[in-house]
Amino acid sequence: MDRKVSVVVSVYNEEKALKEFYRETGKVLAGLDWDYELVFVNDGSSDGSLEILEELAEENPKVKIVSFSRNFGHEAAMIAGLDYSRGDAVICMDADLQHPPEYIPKILEKIEEGYHVITMVRTHNRTAGLIKNITSAGFYWVINHISDVHLEPNASDFFGLSSHAAEILRKSYREKVRFLRGYVQNIGFARTHIEYEARARVAGESKYSLKKLFVFSVNTILCFSNMPLKLGIYAGIFSGLLGVAVMVYTILTRRGAPSGYATIVVLICFMFAMMFFLIGIIGEYIAILFTELKDRPVYIVDETRNFEEGEQRGE
Ligand code: UDP
Ligand code: MG
Repeated sequence: MDRKVSVVVSVYNEEKALKEFYRETGKVLAGLDWDYELVFVNDGSSDGSLEILEELAEENPKVKIVSFSRNFGHEAAMIAGLDYSRGDAVICMDADLQHPPEYIPKILEKIEEGYHVITMVRTHNRTAGLIKNITSAGFYWVINHISDVHLEPNASDFFGLSSHAAEILRKSYREKVRFLRGYVQNIGFARTHIEYEARARVAGESKYSLKKLFVFSVNTILCFSNMPLKLGIYAGIFSGLLGVAVMVYTILTRRGAPSGYATIVVLICFMFAMMFFLIGIIGEYIAILFTELKDRPVYIVDETRNFEEGEQRGE
């Protein structure tokens, strides 16, 4: 038992799911030939989640808590979990049991085989509705076509890392606007995936609204691709060619000045639309630059439980 696995779990208003999660996951962890720590990151829950976690931490010293001062989002919670975990392997998962804990031994087997990154790929998502499935497919299509990275379409926030891979994510990927799942797939190293069937949530409801997912998708595209910035060049070439075409057409048909009113209005609207759209895209990138420049913390920790005294963890 000289090896330890850190299981990172982000928790936001999961009072209904936590006990069940702990019961199932605890059983799996206790049966491993690895030592473990169960790092719960309480992402500013406003329900009884923290109390439940404190009870668990009281009875089991391997349950550790990092509690945020407010809600910072799932990404920030996973990052904090990574920062605070010290295992020879790190596994990130959700608290709602959609990520079946019985896969933990399989992930550890892959780590033992020498893999550094193990992504868990959903074969079937029973809980997501049709809209979520379609938009998710569309998002991955776009990102894989306009950036030079390849993101696995059905990869989830369920993944395993070796301590080496975890250290790289801890140290070198400190961007404020981020998509951890994407970085995990792009640090290289021996990588493999395991397929799993996502279960239904045990209790409570999804915290990701379509709006949140949309913002998240836009940010990811901006983080992984500079292609949208170059759209201006293509738009310029396109409007230049359009101008030449209209000119040639005018000369050939020898139309008099008063006609062509509709053409002008349409062209002006079209050009302005394109220009504002491009300015908007540049604005989005500037917003990200500004966020990075301000260098505010990704998360703020209010209190922690069961971590050794004096050990430097976190940001
Ligand atoms: N979560 C979080 N902070 C948030 C939203 C969600 O830590 O602001 C956690 C949540 O408790 C769960 C995980 O992230 O453990 C995934 O969230 P959810 O199940 O709501 O998303 P879905 O599975 O529906 O995509
Ligand atoms: Mg979920």
